[in-house]
Amino acid sequence: MLPTKAYAAPAASVPLAPFSIERREVGAHDVRIDIQFCGVCHSDLHQVRDEWGGSIFPMVPGHEIVGRVTQVGDHVKNFKVGDLAGVGCMVDSCRTCPSCQDDLEQYCETTGFVGTYNGREKETGAPTYGGYSSQIVVDEKFTLKVSDKLDPARVAPLLCAGITTYSPLKQWQVGAGHRVGVMGLGGLGHMAVKLAAALGAEVTVLSTSPGKEADAEALGAHKFVVTKDADQLKSVGNYFDFILNTVSAPLDLGLYVNLLRRDGTMILLGVPPEAPQLHAFALIGGRRRIAGSLIGGIAETQEMLDFCAEHNIMSDIELIDIKDINEAYERMLKGDVKYRFVIDLATLQN
Ligand code: NAP
Ligand code: ZN
Ligand code: ZN
Repeated sequence: MLPTKAYAAPAASVPLAPFSIERREVGAHDVRIDIQFCGVCHSDLHQVRDEWGGSIFPMVPGHEIVGRVTQVGDHVKNFKVGDLAGVGCMVDSCRTCPSCQDDLEQYCETTGFVGTYNGREKETGAPTYGGYSSQIVVDEKFTLKVSDKLDPARVAPLLCAGITTYSPLKQWQVGAGHRVGVMGLGGLGHMAVKLAAALGAEVTVLSTSPGKEADAEALGAHKFVVTKDADQLKSVGNYFDFILNTVSAPLDLGLYVNLLRRDGTMILLGVPPEAPQLHAFALIGGRRRIAGSLIGGIAETQEMLDFCAEHNIMSDIELIDIKDINEAYERMLKGDVKYRFVIDLATLQN
């Protein structure tokens, strides 16, 4: 086993603290990655606080991982020592069900995908530990290639926030001529703005934070609507072809569904702890749809990383010392992130 430094939540609602874990020995198909940077996703916060239920403790969160390959197994074909590599939300799946065969491992129908953390390894049942740690061992099939052209710290959030917003934009073929609303300008939201704008859509940020207007424009948004302002909200009634809803807290969905034009679609990405309420009339009135989307498959994640390298798209980040992770969670809860915290894992060595 490989002794590894980490930060863990010992139990729900207990602050994260230094912790030691053991990574498995490098198997024939595994790569070992020295983690340089790991993004901080709101899903980390939901899970360390057990807001979705079923959390496994102690928990080492983190599923936006970028680092250098330090060792490869005998049968590894696509990675060599020294390569820059990424790991996102999944480290395994059944690999045989129809969804896995369709490169949609996130929708694995038999075992479900194995989460990078808060999951269990298929063979041993051992808990998986994420990227708030110095190194990780992952099957190469679930390892991504990261371009040396981009800043690795700013690439890390693409592994979850990037793919989670890219995948629905591709699935619904969003592009020029579409009006896209992005609800919530946080980690997912700011990537949604950049990606939808790069795909040629007209992008409007729907935010509760008036102070984010200038940033929204700088990120590529064409309009900004403060959703607490009834008049501003009314100005975009029946307006959008698509709304990407990235909000992490409960809210009145009906109010926002009314912003869709006829046949428009709201795609749920945010996962508030409580189930949303919605009156059927809000959908029936305009033949509107509500859909959902979960991260993205490994092949599509690679496609997204290559797209971002080609278009010079990266996350806007605040780089933090790992000892400041609990404070970062508090700021994230207040919507005060510009626009993704990324942990510099060099600070774990101190
Ligand atoms: P985040 O950085 O905290 O951003 C969430 C944004 O939502 C905030 O910045 C804020 O934006 C808005 N917001 C927060 N509380 C609100 C409230 N009470 N009412 C209205 N708006 C509020 O979080 P994130 O990392 O982007 O994640 C967002 C959600 O997506 C989380 O629930 C996370 O678990 C989920 N997620 C889902 C997937 C998936 O596969 N579907 C993948 C990753 C994450 P404004 O200040 O602009 O209002
Ligand atoms: Zn995430
Ligand atoms: Zn499967």
